[in-house]
Amino acid sequence: MVESARAGNTKYSPVQGSEELRDQLASDHGVQRENVAVVSGGQAGLFAALCAVIDPTEVVVVIDPHYATYPSTVRGAGGVFKTAIAHSENEFQPKRKDLEAAVKGARALMMNSPNNPTGAVYSRETMDMIADVCIQNDLWLISDEVYATQVHVGEHISPRNLPNMAERTIVVGSFSKSHLMTGFRIGWVIAPADVIAALLSMANATTYGTPQFIQDAALKALQLGGAEQVAALYKERRDLAVAAFADAPIFLVAPQGAMYVMVDVRATGLSGDAFANQLLDAQGIAVMPGESFGVGSAGHIRIALTVNNEKLSNACARIIEFAEGVM
Ligand code: PLP
Repeated sequence: MVESARAGNTKYSPVQGSEELRDQLASDHGVQRENVAVVSGGQAGLFAALCAVIDPTEVVVVIDPHYATYPSTVRGAGGVFKTAIAHSENEFQPKRKDLEAAVKGARALMMNSPNNPTGAVYSRETMDMIADVCIQNDLWLISDEVYATQVHVGEHISPRNLPNMAERTIVVGSFSKSHLMTGFRIGWVIAPADVIAALLSMANATTYGTPQFIQDAALKALQLGGAEQVAALYKERRDLAVAAFADAPIFLVAPQGAMYVMVDVRATGLSGDAFANQLLDAQGIAVMPGESFGVGSAGHIRIALTVNNEKLSNACARIIEFAEGVM
């Protein structure tokens, strides 16, 4: 990034992204350059994707528990926000009947696997079901794959690669998680060429491109690799949390991917909100209450695996101790 900026790459850049970065992303994902747009982070990609495919007042269904920004992203794009719940009892894999009931009359479905907040990675069966529901109901599918490189159990399946799905799927990716480049604000969208053209209009009216020196840093990151090393770090922490909670009275649900684990705290009689607040007061440990991600994760807390092993082990032990104390 520094080399690129010092070399003078501080002027306007191609609005859809540099050819070099788009070509690298295209070859990594088995698509053409015309199917790739570079955007200023995954979040901006999600918003632009929604603006590209829905008209105001059209319904967008999101699988709950969902990433915390989804309601405002849908509403900001003019959509009507609706949810289909994926239950803890099903390891947060959505089921056909819940999805089918929610998508009647909807225009788009927005999903996220590996999932924040649950850590669930959707199985092939789940992905096939989602694809089928999208085709049967003529939905756009916005697939948030910002954690695609962080699968600890199972495999990442992109719904775009399932039969007849490429023409209706918009994949949103990011360098934030795969290469720990959160502050660089760079991500990408892979979509049919006409959707990419709509994203160009959107970018013309908003960001007018992503800084060239940031794009050069992202290209370098892809060329150097490193996503596996990042994933290994989170896998180690995930395994550590799984071991810590193995004999605890509260338990982890489906920690298969991403950088989070969900703990079902219902056995304590507390809501996720109450548990998180009391834990903060009693132990000085910050976790997210499941309620902040929707209805499906009520009675749970989300632990982010974003502290080192020693801190994480210590925190897990104290979370369990706190739970035992209130039971
Ligand atoms: N999607 C999910 C599921 C996330 O967890 C995040 C960040 O936490 C984002 C999108 C946005 O990432 P960024 O805008 O940094 O690429």
